[in-house]
Amino acid sequence: MDIKFEKREQLKEKPDQTKLGFGKYMTDYMFVMDWDRENGWHDARIVPHEPMLMDPACVTLHYAQETFEGMKAYRTKNGKIQLFRPEMNARRMINSNARLCMPEFPEDMFVEAVEELVRVERDWVPSEPETSLYIRPFMFATESSLGVHMANSYKFVVICTPVGAYYAEGVNPVRILVEDELVRAVKGGTGFTKCGGNYAASILGQVKAEEQGCTQVLWLDGVERKYVEEVGTMNIMFKINGEIYTAPIEGTVLPGVTRDSIIHILKDWGYKVNETKLSVDDLMKAGHDGTLEEAFGTGTAAVISPVGEFVYKDDKITVNDFKTGDLTQKLYDYLTGIQWGDEEDKYNWTVEVC
Ligand SMILES: *Cc1c(COP(=O)(O)O)cnc(C)c1O
Repeated sequence: MDIKFEKREQLKEKPDQTKLGFGKYMTDYMFVMDWDRENGWHDARIVPHEPMLMDPACVTLHYAQETFEGMKAYRTKNGKIQLFRPEMNARRMINSNARLCMPEFPEDMFVEAVEELVRVERDWVPSEPETSLYIRPFMFATESSLGVHMANSYKFVVICTPVGAYYAEGVNPVRILVEDELVRAVKGGTGFTKCGGNYAASILGQVKAEEQGCTQVLWLDGVERKYVEEVGTMNIMFKINGEIYTAPIEGTVLPGVTRDSIIHILKDWGYKVNETKLSVDDLMKAGHDGTLEEAFGTGTAAVISPVGEFVYKDDKITVNDFKTGDLTQKLYDYLTGIQWGDEEDKYNWTVEVC
């Protein structure tokens, strides 16, 4: 790809690395590329991160033709910068775009765009423990028209934001509300894609959860409200009687890169991993009879997030006395060790950028 570079007149001041939070500060530059029917993808460029001009009739504002990805660049102890399985994000975006009738952004171009932007923004990759540069590739329709159809033009953009540890207080168990009324996804829908529309529909569940003192929602299947699927922005896994259970990828659950990585590691460590439907009744039963040993969410932002309690209708169960389980902690340490370059990368998951 021939990527043009437009220099900023003045670089921004970098924020305090101990107070980054999540997604508050945007870096100096962004990658942009355009697509239209005649020219396909063209005009790759890295330009100052600035507001974009948009016609009020832009179809994305009306019909939500938008998909996105989430990944990170990590600074290792010896100062190098690496990505984690970026090709998985590229392929997932291809699948998301196919479902939303948006043009395919080729895998090699996706990885090159991300790598080149990270190289330009290398000074923005923080070095404090558990900090990283969060990378947000996204695509949206740019056509101005109120007709509902596949648009004639799209933009692919990548922005970056330095982030701190997802939970400022450290990895502590969270309380989760099992949502028994609203649904996130059904088969045939967009549950397996990362699209803005899925999130728009999930915020009401999040608000309900927060009203009940929970930080996240556990979504059940959209047909019977019977089987556990995933948590707001994470996949979820349970350790019951020494075995691991997680929902299968069958159209409604997002195929997480972290989920896939953790399954690999668990199998290597000799655990039986059941990618099968688990009913919420069986989960609550396992919680009451003591066979539910650990539960944790997996996702790029928080990596591994232990669950301390599930609230379902009038019932609730506490997991491992509301403490982070041994396996949960071990997985967190090992996976973050690979990502930040402290553990040997025996799976070849990391990609050095500079
Ligand atoms: C992004 C996301 C995940 C986690 O995927 P990772 O690739 O591990 O970050 C899980 N569930 C939903 C709904 C998501 O949007």
